[in-house]
Amino acid sequence: MKALRLRPGKERSLLRRHPWVFDSAIAKGSGDAGETVRVESSEGQFLAWASTSPASKIRARAWSFVETQRIDAAFFQERVKKAVDARGLFDLQSDGVRLVHGEADGLPGLIVDRYGDTLVAQFLSAGVERWKPVLADALLAATGLSKLYERSDASGREREGLKPVTGWLRGEGDTAQVIREHAWRLSLDIATGHKTGFYLDQRDSRQRFAEMAQHRKFRRVLNCFCYTGGFTVAALAGLKAAGAIEGAELTSIDSSLPALDRARANLALNGFEGANAQFLDADVNASLRRFIEEGRTFDAIVLDPPKFAPTVAHAERAARAYKDINRLGLKLLAPGGVLLTFSCSGGIGADLFHKIVASAGIDAGVDGYISERLGAAPDHPMTIEFPEGEYLKGLVVVRK
Ligand code: SAH
Repeated sequence: MKALRLRPGKERSLLRRHPWVFDSAIAKGSGDAGETVRVESSEGQFLAWASTSPASKIRARAWSFVETQRIDAAFFQERVKKAVDARGLFDLQSDGVRLVHGEADGLPGLIVDRYGDTLVAQFLSAGVERWKPVLADALLAATGLSKLYERSDASGREREGLKPVTGWLRGEGDTAQVIREHAWRLSLDIATGHKTGFYLDQRDSRQRFAEMAQHRKFRRVLNCFCYTGGFTVAALAGLKAAGAIEGAELTSIDSSLPALDRARANLALNGFEGANAQFLDADVNASLRRFIEEGRTFDAIVLDPPKFAPTVAHAERAARAYKDINRLGLKLLAPGGVLLTFSCSGGIGADLFHKIVASAGIDAGVDGYISERLGAAPDHPMTIEFPEGEYLKGLVVVRK
């Protein structure tokens, strides 16, 4: 068995069960892509069994911190089963579920979502790439399903020196799916949609938005970065429950035409084709500026942009981009209106995000209450030992 020997002092994070080993922490030793190695302190003390990623700055990811643990097929079967079983502990209100959430489930680099009877997986590290056949079989065994589609085309693969791969890994079927979520249904395509096809992590924030729409009977709603219209459908579901769809105006913006086509289809799927809903194929920033010039205001605005800062290194430029759209969004908010503003950048912490929104408010000349903090749904868990796992954070701002 090969070993990675760390530099003095670099054992600390592994002792706290943080699963990453950066290249700068390694004194000597290496492994082939995805190979299991023994990670040891500068004095030779066992720290972890880990898979190596020779091409990545994150040079190794820990599988286990227990010296007697064997890293074999049985180990992966158990990890997968544990992750799948854990989802049964949450009341998710959906048949679209994240079953495996990488590091949080002890499987660094593996993402698995279930849409109805179909599984979609992303293998994003050399370690899970090497164990792919074992993991694929374990996923079918743990779920009792037979169809698994691979969407290993995320940018993280490149950093691992892996080529993009997509297609059926087990079984075969339709890539078009319809999932139930809370009181609505949403269609998606696992072959062409973003990530594995859909943004399951925002499920509970969509529900909160529906509840707010019902309670406050929004008249003018603006859903920015709407993708396939999830927050728009949620708002309409809330308005319907309040008997308040009539007279409500909903504007949804995205720069992806296929996403907007699907958003329209998703309204129809829920019986909202008669609603006063507009879909703009446009840049959000430019649209917000235009709305300000036109003197428009909104009772509810959602800002759910893509990841501006994939890593801490991009944080500064990303902070400016977040501040800019939040300044524009706050300006467009009617007094008493609500802004749901999100960042899904791992490189921007919750504190920093609050500060960014605070300075956007100062520049906009707008005061607000933060009435709620939002985060990823519980099937996208954070763990106590891996705070980096917190990526999605949201604030609900009510304009004073
Ligand atoms: N809120 C959505 C997910 C948003 S994902 C949901 O609940 O499902 C981010 C979206 O932003 C993507 O659909 C992407 O196409 C879009 N996007 C990225 N840059 C954009 C820009 N400059 N203007 C408009 N849309 C943009």
